[in-house]
Amino acid sequence: MQTSSTTTMGAILRGWRKRCPGCGDAPLYRKFLKQVEACPNCGAALGEIRADDFPPYLTIVIVGHIIVPLIVLTEKYFAPPTWVHMVTWLPMIVGLMLLFLPRLKGCAIGMMLNLGLTGDEHQGFADDD
Ligand SMILES: [Zn+2]
Repeated sequence: MQTSSTTTMGAILRGWRKRCPGCGDAPLYRKFLKQVEACPNCGAALGEIRADDFPPYLTIVIVGHIIVPLIVLTEKYFAPPTWVHMVTWLPMIVGLMLLFLPRLKGCAIGMMLNLGLTGDEHQGFADDD
């Protein structure tokens, strides 16, 4: 096993490249969005990290900020029929979502691994009941 320490930003960038945030050498995913249980190179327990809704949230925010201005400007300057909008923007939105979602999930997993988070953390006081 080989490990390579890095900063949080380094781990996030390794996740962006869909590589293990711990070492950067092994793939992060075994399927489209399903991370490997443990890195075969450094042994980082990637399978127990749950990023939950954070990657889809980031994906929606980023893709929305790319697409919405383009739609508004296209409508303002060209005013194409609705079917042109549908055949242009829907595939572009799906394509950008498929491009960004695994990378942003990798970023979230990289950040969480580097900070020692698994997604099971709780806030507030323990329930005394
Ligand atoms: Zn690794």
